[in-house]
Amino acid sequence: MKHVIELKDIKKIYHIGGEDFAALAGITLNIEEGEFAALMGPSGSGKSTLMNILGCLDRPTSGSYKLGGKEVAHLSDDELAVVRNQHIGFVFQNFNLLSRISALDNVALPLVYAGVGRKERAERAMEKLKSVGLETWAHHKPNELSGGQRQRVAIGRAIVRNPQVLLMDEPLSNLDAKLRNQMRAEIIKLRQRINTTFIYVTHDQTEAMTLGDRIVIMKDGFIQQIGTPQEV
Ligand code: ADP
Ligand code: MG
Repeated sequence: MKHVIELKDIKKIYHIGGEDFAALAGITLNIEEGEFAALMGPSGSGKSTLMNILGCLDRPTSGSYKLGGKEVAHLSDDELAVVRNQHIGFVFQNFNLLSRISALDNVALPLVYAGVGRKERAERAMEKLKSVGLETWAHHKPNELSGGQRQRVAIGRAIVRNPQVLLMDEPLSNLDAKLRNQMRAEIIKLRQRINTTFIYVTHDQTEAMTLGDRIVIMKDGFIQQIGTPQEV
């Protein structure tokens, strides 16, 4: 199996009040192409710090991060941005959609920045809206959509450039219990339709157990436990 992500002894050290504090204290982890990794751990354990590094939003203090075989741990800001735009999709807790434009145009937005022409943009965005089961809502604006539908638009936008890695940071935690259940099923379907690797932060054990091939449990900047849902 090919590893799309290879982390070796990743550290992130902050200097606070003259002292060193390790938000990440040495993370070594390989993620396979197409794998679904669920990331859990108490608040402050380093999940967001790790996601920021995985998403090329930030650099580690030391260690190696290979994305698709290429070392990215110590790239410049501009180089990181290129890697991020080409290879990473993000879905956050708050959907961060533009309210004045349609679902379709929201999904197509990253393609505008990528310089794709109007017709191709619309086609590719519509294809992704289909992947998230939202094609009949393509021309509605975010305020005409439910919370679950908005999150599906945000997922469509995150996958429109076919990222190698899709990072999701508590994507369902703002939804009520019923919508969360629906969206969990939707994410399982999505995974069958698109070809990417998922890294998914959640506090919800049911989400981690039903979605994850492996569960990574963090504590104090370390990986405390890692394994299949049966193992952890
Ligand atoms: P989690 O997402 O698991 O709640 P974080 O990755 O946000 O944890 O934070 C891990 C630790 O690193 C926390 O103790 C946090 O206070 C600290 N931390 C995060 N970002 C910074 C920063 N920019 N400066 C100093 N400390 C930070
Ligand atoms: Mg966090």
